[in-house]
Amino acid sequence: MASGDPSRHLGTIGPVRATLLPFSPPSIGDEEIDEVASTLRGEWLTTGPRTQRFERELATLVGAEAGLAVSSGTAAMQVALAAAGIGPGDEVITTTMTFCATAHVIHHAGARPVIVDVEPDTLNIDPDAVARAITPRTRAIMPVHLHGHPAEMDALLDLAGAHDLTVIEDAAHALPASYRGRMVGSIGPLCAFSFYATKNLTTGEGGMLTGERELVEAARPWTRHGIDRDRQAAAGKKDSWWYDVVLPGFKCNMSDIMAAIGLRQIEKLEAFHARRTAIAQAYTEALGGVAQFQVPTERPHVRSAWHIYALRLHLDRLRIDRARFIEELRQRHISASVHFIPLHRMRFYAEEYGLEPDGYPVAEREAERLVSLPLHPLLTDTDVADVIEATLDVARCFGH
Ligand SMILES: *Cc1c(COP(=O)(O)O)cnc(C)c1O
Repeated sequence: MASGDPSRHLGTIGPVRATLLPFSPPSIGDEEIDEVASTLRGEWLTTGPRTQRFERELATLVGAEAGLAVSSGTAAMQVALAAAGIGPGDEVITTTMTFCATAHVIHHAGARPVIVDVEPDTLNIDPDAVARAITPRTRAIMPVHLHGHPAEMDALLDLAGAHDLTVIEDAAHALPASYRGRMVGSIGPLCAFSFYATKNLTTGEGGMLTGERELVEAARPWTRHGIDRDRQAAAGKKDSWWYDVVLPGFKCNMSDIMAAIGLRQIEKLEAFHARRTAIAQAYTEALGGVAQFQVPTERPHVRSAWHIYALRLHLDRLRIDRARFIEELRQRHISASVHFIPLHRMRFYAEEYGLEPDGYPVAEREAERLVSLPLHPLLTDTDVADVIEATLDVARCFGH
C-alpha cells in the first residue's frame, strides 16, 4: 500500500461523490404512505385490525406460533421479562456487544444484568462465558443476534435446558435471519424484534415479540396496563364499560398507523434482504483481500440478516485510529458508524455493576476496530462502488 503525505492524496482524490451518502435512511414507498392514509381515513387508529394482521403475518413469516406487536423492540423485551416473572434477586445474562436497551430492560425489571464477553468471529455472546456466569440466581439468557448474524442458539438453549432458564432473544438486527434452517423468531421460546427507523423492517417506531403462543399471550396484558375485558365476556355478560386490572402493566401497544407501515414493509422484506446480501457480498469481495481490513464472517449454518456490515480494521497496518478512519470516510462523503461501543465501557454499567475491561478481553480487542459501512436497500450500484472506492482510498492513504 502506498503511504506518504496523506493530505497530498486527499487533495488529489477528494470526495468520491458530490453529496454525503447517508448511513441508513428509511426505505419507505408509496405503498406504505397509501396504507397509512387509508388507516387515517378509517375508523381505527390504535391497536386494531391492522395490528392483528401484522402480528399474524410476521409470526407466519418467521414460523412462530404467535406475535405480539408493541411500540418498540425495547418494549418487546420489557414485556417478555415481566411475563417471565423476572425481578429483584434474579440475574439475567447478556452480552457486552449490544445496544444499551438490552441491559436497561433487565435493570428496570429489578434484576441484575450479568454482562459477558463475546466470540471473536461473530462478536455474539460466548456460550462458554454464559456457562461460567450461571449461578443459582440466574433466570434467563438474553442473546443478541449482533449485526444480523444469529448467536449460537443450540449451545445457549442446551445451557438453558440444563439450568432451567428462559431465553429471550434480542433480534433487533435479525429479520430475516436463520439458524440451522430455522428462522430467528421461532428458535427459542421468546424473541424480540425492533422496527425502529433504521432496522431491516420499520414501522417508524415499533417492535414485536414472537415465540410460543402461551408465553406470547402471557405478555399481552403487560402491553396495555394489565387490563382484562375478557373475563366478563367469558361469563356471558357484556357491559361495554367493564374491565378489570389484573397486573401492573405498561403502555406499549402498537397502533394501526404503525402496523399499516409494517404490513407493506413485510411485502418488501425478501427483496430488501436480497439487496442487503448482495451489497455485503460486494463489500467482502472488494475489501476481503486488503491487508488493512478484516471482513465479517457468516458461519456456514446461518443466514445473516445483514443489518450491519461491520468491517474490522487491522490497526497495526494503519497510521490512523478508528475515529480518524471514520472521519476520513466522511471527508470522502461516505457516512460510517460503530456498532457498538461495548456496554462494559458505558459509565452507568461500569459503575453500577463494577465492570472492568479485564473481564472482556475479546470485546476490548475487537470493538475498537469496528467500522460499520452503509448497508441498506436504497444503495445503488454506484453508491456501493463509491463506498468501496472511499474505503480503499483511506487504506491507500494511511496504510502501511
Ligand atoms: C435498535 C436496538 C434495540 C432497541 O430497539 P427499539 O425498537 O429502538 O427499542 C435493542 N437492541 C439492539 C441490539 C438494537 O439495535
